Amino acid sequence: MPSLHRLTLSELADRLGRRECSAVEVLQSSLDQIARVDGDVRAFMSFDAADARAQAEAADRELAAGVTHASKPLLGIPVALKDVLAHRGQPLNCSSKILGNYRSPYDATVVERLKAAGAVVFGRLNMDEFAMGSSTETSAFQRTLNPWDLTRIPGGSSGGCAASVAAAMVPVSVGSDTGGSIRQPAALCGVVGVKPTYGRVSRYGLTAFASSLDQIGPFTRTVRDAALITGVISGQDRRDSTSVPQPVPDYLAALNRAAAAGSRPLAGVRIGLAKEYMIGGLDAEVDAAMKASVAKFVELGAEVVEVSLPHSDYAAATYYIIAPAEASANLARFDGVRYGARVEGKDPAEMNSRTRGAGFGAEVKRRIILGTYVLSSGYYDAYYLRAQKVRTLIRQDFLNAFEKVDAILTPTTPSAAFRVGEKSDDPLQMYLSDIFTISCNLAGICGISIPCGFTQPKPGVPRLPLGLQLLGKPFGEESMFQIAQAYEQGTPWHRELSPLS
Ligand code: GLN
Repeated sequence: MPSLHRLTLSELADRLGRRECSAVEVLQSSLDQIARVDGDVRAFMSFDAADARAQAEAADRELAAGVTHASKPLLGIPVALKDVLAHRGQPLNCSSKILGNYRSPYDATVVERLKAAGAVVFGRLNMDEFAMGSSTETSAFQRTLNPWDLTRIPGGSSGGCAASVAAAMVPVSVGSDTGGSIRQPAALCGVVGVKPTYGRVSRYGLTAFASSLDQIGPFTRTVRDAALITGVISGQDRRDSTSVPQPVPDYLAALNRAAAAGSRPLAGVRIGLAKEYMIGGLDAEVDAAMKASVAKFVELGAEVVEVSLPHSDYAAATYYIIAPAEASANLARFDGVRYGARVEGKDPAEMNSRTRGAGFGAEVKRRIILGTYVLSSGYYDAYYLRAQKVRTLIRQDFLNAFEKVDAILTPTTPSAAFRVGEKSDDPLQMYLSDIFTISCNLAGICGISIPCGFTQPKPGVPRLPLGLQLLGKPFGEESMFQIAQAYEQGTPWHRELSPLS
């Protein structure tokens, strides 16, 4: 029998439901695994073990009183959070020095919902500062390493989230995705990561990076677990006016229906390959994994057809105008008065500029400068307004493609995890690691990354996980999960655990 920390969310819920283990034991197995491996991985910035234990004891009392997972699907399940989500009484730093010793006075809506579903919510997971980056190297505090190879980055910006699940420290973590920050690290760490449709999940209590692109989503080891968490955290919230009043489907029921479909579960499903994504320069092993995945989808009954997303070439440029523009406005609140750190000055303006000068790292400053520039009078029309128009074209490309197909298949990343330091001096190279993920945020659609194979081990380099991305229609999570699960069940990849687990 594998030890508790190696079990998935669903397996743990089954055990807890049958009273074969307690929530306190499940939490302890997580804490023991953290103690064993996180000195190397460094996914957690901090965690409050006493608070987590109190939550686990409360879950055990509910289990003893007969509360079941049918009513509280996460009862007794440890869930860790990216350091960008407000958790009452806990530190909130966004891996930046500027927040000082700030602690959240309230729970984000997703945290409230996780707790209401019985989860044991604990831990602050490392990230790129204010979620700006693709390797978790812009964190002001620590470097998180990839559990498959400790000389490599875990991806970013939610690198701590991906690494914590890949090293089996927790069965679930929750992060945010503005241009790929859930899907890219999930792929590089060999786990499942979901970016829900814009408006599906309330952003209340998520520190804003680019408000029109940000969305919260889960990291798990299986599609089923990801669907479960997405269901728990989704739904309208009157505290976020961009959350949409659409009913949340029962994702697990949809997966159960699909799982009963036999050996060709994807019969009648159409999957698109975007011709603009078949670019040169794709890593040969990523290319091979994609070809094998396409063959697998066909074997499972899907019809794979070519689609066109004609404005794809402009996605990165559009994103790197809109995201910094919004960031420059959102980050104006870190002024030395309202939150955390302050460096004194002779007047408020000097205090403000000294605080921001000392508190923000280089990447955050680069984005604020870029964003301020594209919003400045004289450049607004030439850059920001144009980018907004192109964004509309990119969204329209996807809506047109979804007239013909149920989902679009892409690699999640152009290559496997890169080495620590390999791209940190070259922002452009770093930005290109999101080339397949950013359009999804610009278009406001949903996306998932699932494991799809490994690189070949080479001298001095162990095998590294690869991920594929499925993009779904707006509010089409249900069918996206069904397609992803059919692939997952037809392949062995998700059963492989990292050497540190
Ligand atoms: N890597 C992208 C960026 O740096 C996306 C980050 C994210 O999704 N938060 O902006």
